[in-house]
Amino acid sequence: AQRVGSFGMTLSIRWKVTIGTLMVLACGLLIARTLAIRSLEQQEIVQSGQTLETRTSLVAYGLRPFLTESRALSSTPQLQAAVRDLSARALARVTVVAPDGRVLADSAVSDSNLAAVENHLARPEILQAVATGRGTDLRTSHTTGERTLYLAVAMSGADRATPSVFLRLGLPMTTFDREVGKLHRNLALAFGIAFLIAVALSVWLARSITKPLSDIAIAARQLANGNHAVRIRTGSRDEVGLLADTLNHMTDQLRAKIDELSEDRAQLLAMLTSMVEGVMVLDCRGRVLQVNPALERMFDVTRMETRGRPCSDVFRHPQLDTLVSTVLAKRIDKEDEILLHPSGRCLHIEASVTTCDRENEACAVLVFHDITELRRLENIRKDFVANVSHELRTPLTSIKGYIEALLDGAKDDPETSTKFLDIILKQSDRLNLILEDLLQLSKIESGQVLFKREPLHIQRVIERTLAMIKPLADKKGHRLVSFVENGLPAVLGDEDRLMQVLSNLLDNAVKYTPEKGTITVAAHPVSDDAEQSAMATAVELRVTDTGIGIPEQDRPRIFERFYRVDKARSRELGGTGLGLAIVRHIVEGLGGRVWVEANAPTGSCFIVRLPIQQISPPIS
Ligand code: ADP
Repeated sequence: AQRVGSFGMTLSIRWKVTIGTLMVLACGLLIARTLAIRSLEQQEIVQSGQTLETRTSLVAYGLRPFLTESRALSSTPQLQAAVRDLSARALARVTVVAPDGRVLADSAVSDSNLAAVENHLARPEILQAVATGRGTDLRTSHTTGERTLYLAVAMSGADRATPSVFLRLGLPMTTFDREVGKLHRNLALAFGIAFLIAVALSVWLARSITKPLSDIAIAARQLANGNHAVRIRTGSRDEVGLLADTLNHMTDQLRAKIDELSEDRAQLLAMLTSMVEGVMVLDCRGRVLQVNPALERMFDVTRMETRGRPCSDVFRHPQLDTLVSTVLAKRIDKEDEILLHPSGRCLHIEASVTTCDRENEACAVLVFHDITELRRLENIRKDFVANVSHELRTPLTSIKGYIEALLDGAKDDPETSTKFLDIILKQSDRLNLILEDLLQLSKIESGQVLFKREPLHIQRVIERTLAMIKPLADKKGHRLVSFVENGLPAVLGDEDRLMQVLSNLLDNAVKYTPEKGTITVAAHPVSDDAEQSAMATAVELRVTDTGIGIPEQDRPRIFERFYRVDKARSRELGGTGLGLAIVRHIVEGLGGRVWVEANAPTGSCFIVRLPIQQISPPIS
């Protein structure tokens, strides 16, 4: 509607100017024509009047002999002849009217028709002449049908007793009327031409006035459509030019402001998008105005789903609702921690209020920090402290108990004291083992252990480790099997560390497999790509046993420090609960990965995957 309106206005101004100009011109021409013709006519009437005056007195003079006779008041052929003769000389119609209005003679009427001519007493000029002795009139004659200027005078008789007759001269205006008609035609032609020129001129004029205006309208429309590069160009230095300049200036300012705002917005958006923290902006009624991608990921929602909807509807978290309503109602900053279901993620929320409280404006800003990892690490730390104290306390308590028993008298019995001292030695060894393992773990973690990066032949590592573990395996009657694929590529790594990994895994396999089990070590190349034909990128080592296996729920956790499926059994078998934690740290330090799967039908399968081109960062 706006488009049509603005265009209609342009057209209408053009037509208004055109039609207005033409109407003014037409009126002017008409008035000029009327005035010209009227003044011409008046001048003609004055002139004709004077001519008529002269001729009337001449005709009166010529007729006087006929009218002084006693038969003067009757129509006679002589009078009629004289009238006709004088009429021809005076170039005017001559009428003689009796005092009672009868027409005595008339040059325009044949003798035979004279009697039939109507009484002339009612003619305006005769009426005037009766009253004042002289009368004039201009009208179309009943008798001749021509426009005629009449002058009637009363001619008094020879004596006072003879009543006056009226002599009337009629000067036909035919020549004048013809001239006027010609003038009309000429004027019409001239005016017609003038009008056509005026039409052309006014159309041009209207166009020249409205063209810059319609240009401005078009430019303004482009501006409204978002084309801010548009410039209005007009050559004129008048009001229209001023308007164009003003609009151009306005456009520049608008563009500068828009650029500034877009830049600000882009920066803000970049900040919000790159933030790890989730951000949500609410209005004063608790409806969501803005959320950032981090928040979308946290709550698994999309911006479209949230925008404009009440926060309580979108997230459906009672604790969050309480926080939001408190913050909005009391206008205070507040913090809280919430737990998400079912993901189990823990979020710390900082809600702060803004000063604005108008509708649709930011009223509260909520920043969500994902502290799940922090909480997990905290728990691990707490567990670790508890576990380490417990692990250290157990052998210490035992040592203390046996020493007390020795002091209480058991030392006097050589057999008992040897047995007790043996136990004390064993427990001290265990303490020592735990402390060594802990120390090693802490060294790897703090980067004090440097991993060598030399080409390794896995086959050799396996052979050396199996040789080391064989006495232990033989003790329990286990069968040790190794299977290494031919042409296995060399990996870059640290032989001693890899042997430590393998011996820990084999040691566990021996420990957690009942007697006469089978323990297999296999190595083969694998590709990280889905395609089997792709080049090998890693070497996989698999240590499989036929032992007691690990329940599925414990598998993800057995690489944690001190985590054991069965604490009593592990301790009984001499385990510290730190072996797999050390394995994981070393494998990850070598740039690889370790995990556990179930072995069919029983037992476990530990898999160590090491990249062929190891590019583990040097640990400093
Ligand atoms: P531990 O010194 O107790 O063996 P580890 O860190 O080596 O500590 O192992 C953690 C736990 O994982 C063990 O206590 C045991 O419950 C389980 N585990 C490890 N290896 C095996 C295996 N081959 N078969 C069954 N359970 C195993």
